[in-house]
Amino acid sequence: MTTRRDFLLQSGMATAAALLTRRDAAAQQTPAGAAQSPPAAPAQPNSNPAVQPNPDLLQKLRASAADETIRTTKLTDTIFLLQGVGGNIVCQIGPDGKLLIDSGIDTGTHHLLDALAKLDAHRLRVLINTHWHFDHTSGNAELHLEGAFIVAQDNTRIRLSSPQYMAVYDLHIPAASDAALPQETFPETETLWLNNDQTDLVHAPFAHTDSDIFIHFNKGNVIHTGDLWFNGMYPLIDLTSGGSINGMIRGVDQVLGLADDRTKIVPGHGALGDKTALEAYRTMMVTVADRVEKLKAEGNTVQQTIAAKPTADLDATWARGSIEPDTFVALVYDSL
Ligand SMILES: [Zn+2]
Ligand SMILES: [Zn+2]
Repeated sequence: MTTRRDFLLQSGMATAAALLTRRDAAAQQTPAGAAQSPPAAPAQPNSNPAVQPNPDLLQKLRASAADETIRTTKLTDTIFLLQGVGGNIVCQIGPDGKLLIDSGIDTGTHHLLDALAKLDAHRLRVLINTHWHFDHTSGNAELHLEGAFIVAQDNTRIRLSSPQYMAVYDLHIPAASDAALPQETFPETETLWLNNDQTDLVHAPFAHTDSDIFIHFNKGNVIHTGDLWFNGMYPLIDLTSGGSINGMIRGVDQVLGLADDRTKIVPGHGALGDKTALEAYRTMMVTVADRVEKLKAEGNTVQQTIAAKPTADLDATWARGSIEPDTFVALVYDSL
């Protein structure tokens, strides 16, 4: 019997080929899409279950981030978790200067700088973006002006460089300023040697987007998964940025392969977690993907698949985030 895991391993080569094709396509198509920059679509009934319209999301997040201070949690003697309105932020401190993972929402940057100043006296040196989404990158420009050298996967720079559209929220996002763009990008992996640790940055292709990386502090035994993991909730899969459920599962498998029972695993959203919690999330994703795949193979439309309620027994545990069960099912369906 072929398990989903076997299937994913077998399809690795095909994915690598698709990666090259689609990344080239993205590089060519994005500027054209930017030039068209469509005005707001006329109001019409929402018939696409993969859409939870929230075109004001950016403004709402910016308003909350301006007010909310940052909560700091010590993970090791040199690694800290910083939580506010945007995605979870991690800071490593030490004699080489601060290494920061993700920059949060721009209106909250002064709160973030206050929190960083309390950690130690060294300056901010490197900022890593886990992916291009605004709740992880919109503080980039100000932190770059503070001295941060920004590192990310190639597609993070490509997508930040031009206007983007997130179908799941019917949301148009303008191009970022030059100061917000990564200074160094890489396709698959990168290793930094700062503050007496080896820090690996690893691309997870076509997962939550096409720009996701996770970051592994080897000595610190801490992993930041970016938005590969929404701890305790159905995740957002951004299909318009190249995301897919199988890529999410593959990305989580990469992280699980590096974690042990003592690894502190920071999700993109939600509470600090560990290997057991990440395994439960993987099981949920595989269960939903298998059920949806079967319904789709039987010829059910996305509406019929949603009506079959393939997540009914899971919702009490996992429908705790911003992604509704029906939306998650539709995103899974559309990406299979
Ligand atoms: Zn996020
Ligand atoms: Zn995201």
